[in-house]
Amino acid sequence: MTDFPTSAKAVIIGGGIVGCSTAYHLAKLGWTEVVLLERKKLTSGTTFHAAGLVGQLRSNANITQLLGESVKLYRTLEEETGLGTGWKMNGGLRLACNEERWTEVKRQATTARSFGLDMQLLTPSEAKELWPLMTTDDVVGAAYLPTDGQASPSDITQALAKGARMAGAKIYEDTKVLEIDLQDGVIKGVKTEKGYIACEKIILCGGQWTRDFAKTVGVNVPLVPVEHQYMVTERIDGVTSDLPTLRDPDRLTYYKEEVGGLVMGGYEANPIPWAMDGIPKGFHYTLLSSNFDHFEQLMELSLGRVPALESAGIKELVNGPESFTPDGNFILGEAPELKNFFVGAGFNAYGIAAGGGAGMALAEWVANGEPPFDLWPVDIRRFGRPHFDTDWVRTRTLEAYAKHYTMAWPSEEHSSGRPCRKSPLYDTLKANGACFGEKLGWERPNWYADLSAGEEARDIYTYGKPNWFDAVGREHKAAREAAVLYDQTSFAKFILKGPDAEKALSWIAANDVAKPVGGLIYTQMLNDRGGIECDLTCVRTRQDEYYIVTGTGYATHDFDWIARNIPADCNAQLVDVTSAYAVLSLMGPRARDILSAVTRDDVSNEGFKFGTAKTIGIAGCPVNALRVTYVGELGWELHLPVEYATTVYAALKQAGAAHGLIDAGYRSIESLRLEKGYRAWSGEIGPDYTPFEAGLGWACKLRKDVPFKGREAVQAQKEGGVKKMLATFTTDDPDTIICGRSTIFRNGERVGYLASAGFGYTLNQWIGFGYVRSEGGVDADYVLSGEYELEVATKRVPCKVHLAPLFDPRMERVKC
Ligand SMILES: Cc1cc2nc3c(=O)[nH]c(=O)nc-3n(C[C@H](O)[C@H](O)[C@H](O)COP(=O)(O)OP(=O)(O)OC[C@H]3O[C@@H](n4cnc5c(N)ncnc54)[C@H](O)[C@@H]3O)c2cc1C
Repeated sequence: MTDFPTSAKAVIIGGGIVGCSTAYHLAKLGWTEVVLLERKKLTSGTTFHAAGLVGQLRSNANITQLLGESVKLYRTLEEETGLGTGWKMNGGLRLACNEERWTEVKRQATTARSFGLDMQLLTPSEAKELWPLMTTDDVVGAAYLPTDGQASPSDITQALAKGARMAGAKIYEDTKVLEIDLQDGVIKGVKTEKGYIACEKIILCGGQWTRDFAKTVGVNVPLVPVEHQYMVTERIDGVTSDLPTLRDPDRLTYYKEEVGGLVMGGYEANPIPWAMDGIPKGFHYTLLSSNFDHFEQLMELSLGRVPALESAGIKELVNGPESFTPDGNFILGEAPELKNFFVGAGFNAYGIAAGGGAGMALAEWVANGEPPFDLWPVDIRRFGRPHFDTDWVRTRTLEAYAKHYTMAWPSEEHSSGRPCRKSPLYDTLKANGACFGEKLGWERPNWYADLSAGEEARDIYTYGKPNWFDAVGREHKAAREAAVLYDQTSFAKFILKGPDAEKALSWIAANDVAKPVGGLIYTQMLNDRGGIECDLTCVRTRQDEYYIVTGTGYATHDFDWIARNIPADCNAQLVDVTSAYAVLSLMGPRARDILSAVTRDDVSNEGFKFGTAKTIGIAGCPVNALRVTYVGELGWELHLPVEYATTVYAALKQAGAAHGLIDAGYRSIESLRLEKGYRAWSGEIGPDYTPFEAGLGWACKLRKDVPFKGREAVQAQKEGGVKKMLATFTTDDPDTIICGRSTIFRNGERVGYLASAGFGYTLNQWIGFGYVRSEGGVDADYVLSGEYELEVATKRVPCKVHLAPLFDPRMERVKC
C-alpha cells in the first residue's frame, strides 16, 4: 500500500454507518486529512443487517432534532453522490391499544409538535386506510409521522463513504487498528495492520467492539451486544411499496415493507445477551443462528395484528447482534478519561435512524471542541462508577432493551442492578418506609410510605395521579411548616486544591468565588456561547481549597468540565471525594431549633449567615455545615465523614422529634423547588441556555473586572437582550396534569415548551418552567403581556405566566 498515509488530522476507527457519517461530515467541514480505517469491509459489522426503519421522535428535543438531521441528509444523499440509498419517506405509524398508551401517544404528539415535527393523530379506521393489512379491533388510536421513512442501511453507508471521499477523506478497508499509541497519556497515533498513522485525534465508531477497544486506553464505554431478530417474508398480497413503517408497541413489534413482503421484528421481554466472553475473532458479515423458539413470542403477538403473516412464506429470520446501552440512548462525545479521544457507539437498534445526525454532531464536536447543541441524553459523561462493571452494565442494558416498547411512565425508575451504591443510612431509611429511586447506581429515597397506616413503599406508575402523590404532599408540608431531613449522600463532591485554586475557579465559574474562607458560592460554569455547563455550589474551605458540590448525575460531567478548564498555568488539582462524605440536609422553619439542640456551635442567624459554611460539632462528628437551601426554607446541608452518618442522623432525629422533623425524599424537593423558582440543570438550564435567558444573570460577576469563561457572550446578552426567557406557568385546574414538553402558546402562537413540570402542594397548582421565544427579542414586558395556553396531550388549557418565584416562604411568613 504505497498510498497508505503516515499521518492524519483525525483517524476514525470503524466503517459502519456511524464512522462513515462522521467521516462525511468532518470532510464537509473542511477536514480533508481524515482517515477512516475499517478492519474488514464497510458495513460488515452491524450495519449490513439492520432492518432500515428511520423514525425520528425521541423524548428529548435535541435528539429528535438530530434524527431529523438524518432524514434531511438521506433525502438528498443519493442525488449528491449518485449512489442509491433506498431512502423512502413513506411515513411512520404508531398504534395505541389501551387508554394509557393513547395518553402516551397524545403526549408524544404534543412533544413532536413542540419540537417542530409533524405528528398527526388518527382514528383506527384512518390508520387502517394507511395500513390495510392490519386488524384494528383493539386499536384505540394511532399517530402518523409523515416524514419518517426507511432506507437501505448498506447503501446509505456506501453513499456516505462516497460523499466523504468526494470531500477529501480517505477510507481504507481490511485495515484493523491494533493499538493506540499513547505517550505520557497523550495520543500520538494508531498502529494498524498496514502501518503507523500519526494523529492527534481519534474517533472510535467501532460498534459492539467499542467497549473492549476503548478499555485498552482506559476509556469506559458502557455497551454490550444483545441479539436482535427480525423476520423477512416473501411477497404478501396487499403490501405496497408506499406502506408506512408501523410500530405496535403494545405488541412489542415493528414492521416495514421490503420487496413486496414484510420485515417484522420486535423487542422481547427476555432478550438474549451475546458474546459475554468477548466477540469471536473474524466476526464480520456474520449473522447468528436464527432462534425461532425465542422469536415465537413476537410472532404470536404479530399474528394478532397482521393475520396475513399466518400464510406468508418466510424468507429468513435475521439474528444480528447490536450494541445496546444501560439507558437505551447512544453514546457520543470526547471521553472524559482521554483528551482527543472521541466515541460514537451504542446505537440500540436505531443507528440507521440516528447515523446521519450523530455523525454530524460528532464531527462538529471533534472540529469545534464542543457539540453543536446540548446532547446531554447521549453524552458519554452521563455515566459513572457502576458502568465500569460489564456485568452490571449488561444487567441494566437488558432491562432497557426489554422496556424499548413498554410504556415510558412519568417518574419511572429502573429496577435491575439494585441496590448498588448505598448510603450508610440505607437500611435505616428503608425501615422508615423509604421508596428508593436510583441515579448513577445510588439508591436515593424518593418518598416515604407511612408504614403504620399500611402504605407500601412501592411506585405504581400511571399517567394520572400516582400512589405517592399524598406522601410527597405530607413531606412538602412538613418542609414548609416544621422540618425535614433528606439523605443527599449521593451528591457529587470534589475538592479543588492548590496555590492557584482561586485563580483557576475564578476563570471557570461565572460567579465571584474570591470570598473569604467560609464563603459559599452558588455559581454557573459557562461555555464560550454563555451556555450553562454546570450549576453548583462551592465553599471556600481554606485559602487554597474549595469544596465543590454538584448533582448526583453530573459527577462525571462536572468533574470533566472543571478539570479540563483549569488553565494550564494554574497550579490546582481536582479530586473526587464523593465517597468520603455523607450529606444530611436539614430543611424547614424549625431547622435552627433542631440544629441548636445537637451542637454547641453558634447557629443563630447572626452567628451563621446564609451563604456561609463552617465546621460544627454534632455527636462527636466534625460536620461541614453549609447554610444553603434548594427548597426555599431555612436549612443546612450537613456534610460529614461517612462513618458518622448513622450517629449524626440519630442525633438529629432525636432532637427533631419535638419539632415535627420527618424524613423526606427527592420528589418533595422537586415540588418545593418549583414553587421557589430554583433551576435544575438538564431540566430548564443547560448548555443551550445562558444565565440571562434563565433569569440567573445576577450570578455573573460582570461588575467585577475579572475574566471568566463565557464572559463575552453573557456581557453581549446583558447589553443586547435575549431571544428566549425562562418563565413559570401555572394552571388553575389541579386535575389537569401538566408535564414536561407541553407546548406553550402565547396569544395563540407556539413560543416554546415546558422543560420541567410538577405539582406545588403549598399552592395547590401544577407548575411548569419553560422558555418563551421570539426571534425579535424577549424581555419581561413581552413575557408578561401575553395570553398563554399550554397544550397538554393535544388539549389546550389556559395558564398564567410568572417571572417572580411563586412562593417565598419569608414573604409568606411576614404576611402571616
Ligand atoms: C437485527 C437488527 C435490526 C436493526 N434494525 C434497525 C432499523 O430498522 N433501524 C435502525 O435505525 N437501526 C437498526 N439496527 C441498528 C443498526 O444496525 C446499528 O445501530 C448500526 O448499524 C450501528 O452502526 P455502527 O457504525 O455503530 O456499528 P457497525 O456497523 O458495527 O460498525 C462498526 C465497525 O467498526 C469496525 N471495527 C471495530 N473495531 C475495529 C478496529 N479495531 N479497527 C478497524 N475497524 C474496527 C467493525 O468491523 C465495524 O464494521 C438494527 C440492528 C440489528 C442487529
